Amino acid sequence: MSEIKQVLGISGGKDSAALAIYMSRKHPDIDVEYYTCDTGKELKETYDLINKLNSVLGKDIRLYKSIDELNSPEKNPFDHFMAVGGGYLPSATARWCTTKMKLQPFEEEIGDTPTISYVGIRGDENREGYISKKENIQSIFPFRKNIWSEDVIKKFLSNSNIDFVAAHYRLLAGENHDIELILQYVNLPISPRFTQRQKLNALLETDVKLFNKVVFEFLKTTDYPVGKLESFSLVDNDEVLGIDDIFYILENSGVGIPTYYLPIEYTVEIDGELKHGTYSRSRSGCFFCFFQQKIEWVWLLEQHPDLYEEAIKYEKEGFTWTIEPLIELKKPERVNSIKKEHYLRMNRNKIKTANNWQDEILQAEGEGCASCFI
Ligand code: SF4
Repeated sequence: MSEIKQVLGISGGKDSAALAIYMSRKHPDIDVEYYTCDTGKELKETYDLINKLNSVLGKDIRLYKSIDELNSPEKNPFDHFMAVGGGYLPSATARWCTTKMKLQPFEEEIGDTPTISYVGIRGDENREGYISKKENIQSIFPFRKNIWSEDVIKKFLSNSNIDFVAAHYRLLAGENHDIELILQYVNLPISPRFTQRQKLNALLETDVKLFNKVVFEFLKTTDYPVGKLESFSLVDNDEVLGIDDIFYILENSGVGIPTYYLPIEYTVEIDGELKHGTYSRSRSGCFFCFFQQKIEWVWLLEQHPDLYEEAIKYEKEGFTWTIEPLIELKKPERVNSIKKEHYLRMNRNKIKTANNWQDEILQAEGEGCASCFI
């Protein structure tokens, strides 16, 4: 049996940090290699988080390097790739930063080794995250009810696989299972009237662990890395973790919540009245990331003015991080109008519960790059 590598990428964000803690505590039988990819432009809070995780995990987090910094004139990955690429800032449509500093070092480290990659997409999210195009890498999502990736589910539930799935449900179901009901779902082909998603949800509803066991048997007939394992303890996982659970894991472990997520009060004048709102950063990643919202740029300006000035230095004529040059965005009247818009939007949405800062993170995190922000 070929060796299977099992890895978990720590982006510096809350979800991957919580997943690392979760895996080390709930699945100590799995020998996970924790890794991170440094762009050289992260916030100090991110480096603090990784240092704390190192001690809680009892295992060093490996750094998958994108460059040999000592032999690069720029001495850090982001500046190196920017110089090599002709000085163009990355953007949502030309995201060379993620490719060069996150995906390529990961795929180079893995090579052709069959690899299981654990990804911290939560149960309350509706996105798939990074799926490697390399066939030897299989993503698993332990926080979701459906731990399997879309490609696995597509093959498993395909109409041509119905006989296999039915036979293995019959083999693995226990006395407490309503096998006739399960087989009704299994034998119903996918069609416009019964979509793959509906079939998946119906089977997960009947019994998540049994579903996982049948998928595991199916994977043994394929080249997927999980199928090469003798056992896989995630098969018995039926926990679904949302944002509250993630914050609980971080706090309870002693690692704590990365401080940039915590709300900070700001004051803004609206129609002659002083109002108090809160802002924070909703994501990890580079301090100048172009996925930031305007209010996050204001947060950077006020909480890390040195980094804001550094971000300005990257902007050249015609090349800016967002449509609005940072030199314009930092003007007091502009800062005030961004805060005003933010304050009114937050209140319009009636986000007034004690957890409203978490809701704001939920709203903001849909945009961006799973490799950097999970
Ligand atoms: S955090 Fe933003 S700027 Fe940094 S690598 Fe990721 S997408 Fe690019």
